[in-house]
Amino acid sequence: MPAVPVENPLTTALSELRKAVEHLGLPEDEWTTLSTPRRILEVAVPLRRDNESVEMFKGYRVQYSTTRGPSKGGVRFHPDVDLDETIALAMLMTWKCALTNLPFGGAKGAVAVDSKKLSLRENERLTRRYTSEILPIIGPERDIPAPDVGTDDRNMAWMMDTYSVNAGYSVPGVVTGKPLVLGGSLGRNSATGDGVAIAAREALLAKGIPVEGATVAIQGFGKVGYWAAIAVEKMGMKVIAVSDVEGGVTGFNSLDDVFSHLQSTGSVVNTPGVDRITQTELLHLDVDVLIPAALSDSLTAATAPGVKARVVVEGANAPTTPEGDAALADNGVLVVPDILANSGGVVVSYFEWVQDNQVYFWTEAEIAERLNTLMLKAIFEVREYSAKHGITWREAANAIGVGRVAEAHRLRGLYP
Ligand code: NAD
Repeated sequence: MPAVPVENPLTTALSELRKAVEHLGLPEDEWTTLSTPRRILEVAVPLRRDNESVEMFKGYRVQYSTTRGPSKGGVRFHPDVDLDETIALAMLMTWKCALTNLPFGGAKGAVAVDSKKLSLRENERLTRRYTSEILPIIGPERDIPAPDVGTDDRNMAWMMDTYSVNAGYSVPGVVTGKPLVLGGSLGRNSATGDGVAIAAREALLAKGIPVEGATVAIQGFGKVGYWAAIAVEKMGMKVIAVSDVEGGVTGFNSLDDVFSHLQSTGSVVNTPGVDRITQTELLHLDVDVLIPAALSDSLTAATAPGVKARVVVEGANAPTTPEGDAALADNGVLVVPDILANSGGVVVSYFEWVQDNQVYFWTEAEIAERLNTLMLKAIFEVREYSAKHGITWREAANAIGVGRVAEAHRLRGLYP
């Protein structure tokens, strides 16, 4: 099975930052500040396996920026994570929070483990030990983790509990993406996918393509891909292909069939009555919208030139390399960049944090309405900026996000 090709996401993120700094005409000192993560913690996470053996895993928490508020970002459990990738993802969170005007800096956490190979109890022990190792630097006013690849609301419940037991009282605001009964927010599970769908709709409209009946292919059918599929279909689009780590499928009658097969077998492949396709075949389908919603570096110099979609909406973080991006631009593909397209997750995480801190909870309709308002504002700002300066949506989104962080640096000054 061809995996998503791996390049270095930190190199990609730094080259995007460099472009933004040059576009904004920022001084070299500011480049140095913006390209340096504020705090990096590397931890050893020992795990007692169910068979009583002890295994050691590497964990990280990177607080890339705290200039505009507490740092915020997900925790990834994946065997291939490393420090460079965690720094890159924390950097992206920084520009994303600034772009959507949330009062947060950016962070990311990770443990280099295959969560699928952990029993439930092992997963709990690993999550609690990791939380306890990073405990001195997290907190509702310092740094607020959330779920990412390989973690979910159950991990957030254990993180919240571990932090609270140490504090001596319940601190729901220490993480977002929690179960509802622990102070989670309505609409958080679907938020990233809902935001991806809003971005897809606006990108189609910007290209003059009708939303009703627009065809969609989605790489990655996890928390982002699944909810994006549901949301785009509610808007009248039609999902014609999806994939997960095992491969892709097309030719299904309804998404429900694929989802129930995923639930019963752990993968979408081999759903009865569908055609199997490879990841690359999925990326090259003749669709209106392509949503990469798996891992980094999926659209590269090798894969991007064959993309036939009119619009690419980046559900995943850093799914496109600079070479891939150039190939898409050459072919006139409109790319809605990750920091805009998948910002719905952190927007509703922000709502969750606000609700936890004020101990007053909003209705699902209020959350959907506020998510739509914030996303539309960011999308229109990016669209206008890109038109005004004759640059891509990615360059515009980076310029706005990076520009806001640079402005915050200037106003705060340098201590001492
Ligand atoms: P997830 O673990 O729920 O799902 C990941 C999906 O990608 C799964 O279907 C998995 O099988 C598939 N996948 C993994 N490796 C693959 C490979 N090599 N080729 C093809 N498919 C592969 O993760 P998620 O939360 O849906 O996150 C997906 C992406 O979206 C990540 O880049 C993440 O950083 C980003 N993101 C997530 C959120 C969120 O709220 N969960 C928010 C913003 C961005």
